[in-house]
Amino acid sequence: MLKLDFHGSGRHFLQIPGPSPVPDRILRAISLPTIDHRGPEFAALGMKVLAGLKQIFKTQQPIIVYPASGTGAWEAALTNTLSAQDHVIMYETGHFASLWQKMATRLGIHTEFIAGQGDDAEFPNAFSWRRGVQAELVEERLRRDSQHRIKAVCVVHNETSTGVTSDIPAVRRAIDAAKHPALLMVDSISGLACVDYRHDEWGVDVTVSGSQKGLMLPPGISFNAVSARALETSKTTRLPRSFFAWDDIIEMNRGGYWPYTPNTNLLYGLSEALDMLLEQGLDAVFTRHERWARGVRAAVQAWGLPIQCVEARACSPVLTGVVMPTGVDADVVRKLIYERFDLSLGTGLGKLKGRMFRIGHLGDSNDLTLVATIAGCEMGLKASGVHLAGSGVQAVMNVFGGADSRTH
Ligand SMILES: *Cc1c(COP(=O)(O)O)cnc(C)c1O
Repeated sequence: MLKLDFHGSGRHFLQIPGPSPVPDRILRAISLPTIDHRGPEFAALGMKVLAGLKQIFKTQQPIIVYPASGTGAWEAALTNTLSAQDHVIMYETGHFASLWQKMATRLGIHTEFIAGQGDDAEFPNAFSWRRGVQAELVEERLRRDSQHRIKAVCVVHNETSTGVTSDIPAVRRAIDAAKHPALLMVDSISGLACVDYRHDEWGVDVTVSGSQKGLMLPPGISFNAVSARALETSKTTRLPRSFFAWDDIIEMNRGGYWPYTPNTNLLYGLSEALDMLLEQGLDAVFTRHERWARGVRAAVQAWGLPIQCVEARACSPVLTGVVMPTGVDADVVRKLIYERFDLSLGTGLGKLKGRMFRIGHLGDSNDLTLVATIAGCEMGLKASGVHLAGSGVQAVMNVFGGADSRTH
């Protein structure tokens, strides 16, 4: 028999940037008995989560919930709004942007992948994996498209492979400045409910998100928030879609139901997550993430190791990428930390494999969890023979214990 309780005693430190730890309150909600998804109790649950989600995405428009991981919601965003051979521009912020681009290509969409150009001695060919979207490059490209062949601009809000956040309102302004009708599609799978996000105010046409990051749920459900224009566009675009089609779902959602069996128990969990986030207030949630990120960055700086994100204003409140000195394999360090201290860190993805690891600081966490996380990293780095300039533990304690630390 497979032993499912993998971690002997105490809490495992799940410090990867998603799935994030699931609070006990949510686990208890998920353990309620599964009910009839066509019955009256279910409609109340459906209506509640659909209304609550609007507050999280800051929208008055429909939000579609899929029983799928975030990747499914990526596919839904593309197939509902585009036709075969449509031209879209996507911005290469990192591994997740690359995966979305690969998916679009597979779906028969003509993608143009824009990247920031420049030199980065540490990471040849990965210049734009250390920076946010340069909106001026989007504007310049759209201005050259006088015939409006480009149908959409796709960007990742919080690039989880690098720990870099992009300025979405700046991308909207770039599209508007070019007087271009392209739809704006944003992946905020790991940004939502960690970093401020405003679907309506920022003029986003489709926002893609998922359950297992800031929403603190297990993996398994994902979302499309849509605009009136995106909905209108979906009526005439022709990429094949069936399971992911918005129209049937929106129709059934009016009564709180879905066309197929929804993920009942994860929706219980979602209902609880919404209560927790809204009771606390989104602003307090964002402030807490900013503070944690500041503490973790102070620790990495004290170690004297580079942070993957090189633009101070773009550093992610959700995770921090820690770059290893040349010759040190980040995955060997990660493995040692996991085996010795029962602490999971995120691996380097794509071009960054072996070059860096990622510390997640999102969702159901607190100061002491993060101080202990830094302690685990520090012990593991030393045990791996990495020279550290100073104590990250002392640095993070200075931030969390300091005078400005009382906003939780
Ligand atoms: C996690 C993540 C995804 C992928 O979501 P899955 O749930 O693994 O399918 C896509 N984009 C970003 C930015 C993510 O953080």
